[in-house]
Amino acid sequence: MKILVTGGAGFIGSHLCRYLLGKGHEVVCLDNFFTGKSKNILDLKKNAKFKVIPHDITNPINIQEHFDRIYNLACPASPVHYQFDPIKTVKANTLGVINILEFAKLNGARILQASTSEVYGDPLEHPQKETYKGNVNTLGPRACYDEGKRVAETLFMDYHRKYKVPIRIVRIFNTYGPSMDKNDGRVVSNFIMQALKNEPITMYGEGKQTRSFCYVSDLIEGLYRLMESDCIGPINLGNPREFTIIELAKKVVKITGSKSKIEYKELPQDDPTQRKPDITLAKKFLRWEPKIQLNEGLKKTIDYFKWLIKNEDA
Ligand code: NAD
Ligand code: UDP
Repeated sequence: MKILVTGGAGFIGSHLCRYLLGKGHEVVCLDNFFTGKSKNILDLKKNAKFKVIPHDITNPINIQEHFDRIYNLACPASPVHYQFDPIKTVKANTLGVINILEFAKLNGARILQASTSEVYGDPLEHPQKETYKGNVNTLGPRACYDEGKRVAETLFMDYHRKYKVPIRIVRIFNTYGPSMDKNDGRVVSNFIMQALKNEPITMYGEGKQTRSFCYVSDLIEGLYRLMESDCIGPINLGNPREFTIIELAKKVVKITGSKSKIEYKELPQDDPTQRKPDITLAKKFLRWEPKIQLNEGLKKTIDYFKWLIKNEDA
């Protein structure tokens, strides 16, 4: 198949492009390189079945090629990045999503939207099932992303109902692994970089808030299974094992053998207090569940950051 991956130079997108090429597909990566990096896809450029188109999805997409599948990942994902230009984040999820849906409609392509557990906001239901409608502060600093992703889901459903565009919606929970940007401010990359440099571990709030961390190869397998299934979604993909942020910090310090001490900082506004996916639907319809647990995934990710520090000026 010929597959378009928007946001293909980012953390998840670059893993997805590599996986799809590995399956023998032809892959086009469309990216505006806001948070995406050329180095993430450097190895792929040698493959004749891989091509990069620099483009911003907030502008209309006029590619004169036919695609069978489109994965729409184009959107900054870390709070630091999506709050850098919040209006642009809303645009990527509204104008950008309309542009890519129009392109899918024209192509007759099946299109998957990378939605997020953030559509549940600071959840009052725990763990979160796909039926939970969420608790999002429309006025807060996270709203550009959370509400943006919610309206993106709405647009996907409306294009499906009105124009019969074949869609898939996945709600991705916190994902980590090699190729994460060391400066994107997310908790796993921050803690690992701080631990490897023996710098203070920045704990926001008391660290009692929880997250469930999915290793990237598990997520990629789930994305592909969903795309090739008969299931429209929305469907949760994430690792249901839940950890407090303090527990995560202790694990990182232990595995790295770091001398870092914890330094407490203010908890950001609207930071969700708990998050854990209910993956019953993914198990049932995709026969999918994560294989790599946190200790093993952290070791692989720590090895990547060690390599990064060695090979470039970190
Ligand atoms: P990332 O920031 O590494 O990747 C996003 C990619 O999209 C980058 O390559 C960036 O340059 C590109 N991009 C951003 N705006 C664009 C635009 N307007 N036009 C074209 N390209 C644009 O983030 P990621 O972690 O790889 O996330 C990928 C997708 O998965 C995002 O849509 C994100 O919302 C979703 N997601 C990620 C997580 C996670 O834990 N990583 C969780 C839930 C959802
Ligand atoms: N966090 C932290 N220290 C950091 C970065 C993040 O304590 O240096 C916390 C953050 O407040 C949140 C959790 O870790 O409670 C996960 O943050 P991240 O930005 O990785 O993801 P998200 O909040 O979008 O789930």
